[in-house]
Amino acid sequence: MSAQLIDGKAIAKQVRADLKGRIGRLKEAGITPGLAAVLVGDDPASHTYVNSKARACEKLQLHSEVIRRPDTISQHELLQIVTDLNANPAIHGILVQSPLPKQIDELAVTLAIDPAKDVDGFHPHNVGLMLLGRPGLLPCTPHGIIKLLEHSDIDPAGKEVVVVGRSNIVGKPVAALLMQKSRWANATVTVAHSRTPDLGLVTRRADILIAAIGRPETVTGDMVKDGVVIIDVGVNRVEDPSTEKGYRLVGDVDFAACAEKASAITPVPGGVGPMTIAMLMSNTVTAAENSVK
Ligand code: NAP
Repeated sequence: MSAQLIDGKAIAKQVRADLKGRIGRLKEAGITPGLAAVLVGDDPASHTYVNSKARACEKLQLHSEVIRRPDTISQHELLQIVTDLNANPAIHGILVQSPLPKQIDELAVTLAIDPAKDVDGFHPHNVGLMLLGRPGLLPCTPHGIIKLLEHSDIDPAGKEVVVVGRSNIVGKPVAALLMQKSRWANATVTVAHSRTPDLGLVTRRADILIAAIGRPETVTGDMVKDGVVIIDVGVNRVEDPSTEKGYRLVGDVDFAACAEKASAITPVPGGVGPMTIAMLMSNTVTAAENSVK
């Protein structure tokens, strides 16, 4: 492998360490930043995500609450939980973990969260501010990707960036951030998706390739050019009887083949994932600071 490994774990540790001074100043003013996670149902991946978020809060000595409800919860009850958290002065950040059961209107829940406490950055108010290039709470995974580039000193300015995937939580917002007229942006961005007829034709143009597809090892070695920087957002379980759990995690990129050609690449796990949680901590601290401005 010739590529530099972009170590998301180490960069996330640095981001968390940088938050300690801000958390200390808030505590001196009598404020402990607080994050509430609402977890509906028993999806194992959601439990894992919420537990890691709670553990990250603990490590930084932030206040954290996990509100667990069965997947039979009504829309009314879930909205009431959000309303109560909006009014709770100990809580500065609220996240409602996806996926939600089918009787719940996910947009209605997002709209119910106070935009000042919307640490996922999914509320249309914050999405609008992001598109306008104004300060607001940025979505954690896209913001984490920008931070990975920044800490690796990979400036996207003037580069051809190809984003594969157009979801509201990764593809669209990371494209929006990278096209901003600002530092660690200013890229020429192309967004590809499942209706892109010849994906390889598009991805081979990329100086920086961001894969957010949700399909294991979709980007193969022949689909990237020499020297590309690859950010692999995908987290996919593939069966592997040789492991204790019977599966292993792989990204949306064929790591071994692409690492041969790339100048830098994120691993899965240990790339984008830790950054998402670090940016969630960062948003919670920002929301707590904003609450006293
Ligand atoms: P998503 O909502 O399912 O979106 C996937 C996108 O990929 C869609 O836009 C889809 O196109 C496109 N796509 C699917 N198959 C394709 C193909 N063969 N060729 C080109 N494009 C294709 O997924 P997501 O929420 O963005 O997540 C993507 C991946 O990132 C998942 O593996 C997820 O687990 C992972 N993820 C990781 C983190 C983290 O913190 N590490 C955070 C969020 C997500 P259409 O729009 O046309 O359907």
